[in-house]
Amino acid sequence: MIGIYGGTFDPVHFGHLRTAVEIKALFDLDEVRLIPCANPPHRTAPLTPPAMRLQMLQLALANSQGLVADGCELDRTGPSYTVDTLRELRAAHGDTPLLLFMGMDAFADLECWYQWPHLFDYAHIVVMTRPGFTVPADIGSKRDRLVSNAALLQHAPGGKLFFQHVTQLDISATAIRNLIAKRQNPRFLLPDSVIDFIRQHNLYQHESLV
Ligand code: ATP
Repeated sequence: MIGIYGGTFDPVHFGHLRTAVEIKALFDLDEVRLIPCANPPHRTAPLTPPAMRLQMLQLALANSQGLVADGCELDRTGPSYTVDTLRELRAAHGDTPLLLFMGMDAFADLECWYQWPHLFDYAHIVVMTRPGFTVPADIGSKRDRLVSNAALLQHAPGGKLFFQHVTQLDISATAIRNLIAKRQNPRFLLPDSVIDFIRQHNLYQHESLV
């Protein structure tokens, strides 16, 4: 099974990386593909060019077997729709189950995503939750897809919905950008190799822009 973990990764940090390690182990995934969104349809475009966000991911994952920085969304023009990414991955990976990971916030907005019902044509969706969470009552037609046993995800290439508790460290890219803009040290929030890259390229220098 292959995990798909998308984000802006502006920059990638230990919150993302801890999650990637944890989901790989929890679901016994062959790999987790971390995919920077080139042109996010649902939020303001990051100031950092997609190629640089991909480079930071590559540095962060340099020694992490089974965690892959995937630049597939950089090769397309226009908004980066997840359904297009999943279609490409499905074409590349035959019947291997694909697990699309997303946070609760993203799941709450899922019905605004371009062609959202078709996401399930290509992948399972795994919603990453926090402790004390219960499945919302108002998930509509998605309830028919809900499974409570992760083992069932192995038996189909996609189509199911699963909720999984995952550790979420209290780190955000926004906070890191703000620290850097204030000339404070972001060390231990993200890999040193990524900090070096940020310094070399003078990223996130102006708080008003982050
Ligand atoms: P920003 O602060 O710029 O919004 P972010 O830190 O939230 O960025 P994103 O790149 O937007 O990071 O997030 C990508 C994915 O990682 C999303 O699914 C998000 O829910 C998840 N994520 C973000 N921060 C954490 C964290 N600290 N722990 C676990 N998952 C996280």
